Amino acid sequence: MSLLAAAEPGSPRERMVREHLAARGIQDARVLDAMLRVPREAFVPAFLTQNAYDDRPLYIGYEQTISQPYIVALMTEALQLKGQERVLEVGTGSGYQTAILALLCAEVYTIERIRKLSIRAQTTLRKLGITNVQFRVGDGALGWPEAAPFDAILVTAGASELPRALAEQLAEGGRLVIPIGPLGSQTLHRFTRKQGQLLDEKLTRVAFVPLISETEAGQPSESPVEPSSDEP
Ligand code: SAH
Repeated sequence: MSLLAAAEPGSPRERMVREHLAARGIQDARVLDAMLRVPREAFVPAFLTQNAYDDRPLYIGYEQTISQPYIVALMTEALQLKGQERVLEVGTGSGYQTAILALLCAEVYTIERIRKLSIRAQTTLRKLGITNVQFRVGDGALGWPEAAPFDAILVTAGASELPRALAEQLAEGGRLVIPIGPLGSQTLHRFTRKQGQLLDEKLTRVAFVPLISETEAGQPSESPVEPSSDEP
């Protein structure tokens, strides 16, 4: 049996897709199908396996989280993928969103700043037989100039503003989906490049871990990380 077979009716994954995604307005049949196929339990730590299909973010180590399934579906739908696209993802994390994208486009380029997360994601995707993904460890706010332009760009960490390099690496007609705003008050934006201009649509309020980037430096108010005083 294929590792990426669609979930059986009544299974936790199928219920997640029906109850948390379709029932809440996700309509793109290809997105729903990809989310029926990718086993989210393969991307979470063993102690969270039984929570894998809860509609919430889950801890994946290194102070990072795997995004809530509904948000993964919403962001993916917003990219309007048809199958032939080359897609840049910033924030590989667990690789769950990467796997969903890989099923929906031709090639995914994904960047993660934490090496151990990238390596773990590479292993997980390889085990699932997903091969159309290129991985890079580094600052995703700089994009991937050698592979640009991209038909779609997805940022899965919250930025204080739209990184210029990403806007520059978006193809004509391309879509760039990114959470922007201070921690605790981010808005998901979709930018579309039309005749050289960027059309800006606000989609919904979201809560992401911060995009940590050299190009975001000098804005301490954007990173409210307080010294921890509650060490055991
Ligand atoms: N899409 C992921 C969610 C990851 S959370 C998933 O499905 O699991 C956001 C990720 O962005 C974290 O892993 C974090 O380390 C990474 N990140 C933050 N700033 C980054 C940057 N400048 N470049 C690349 N990755 C970054």
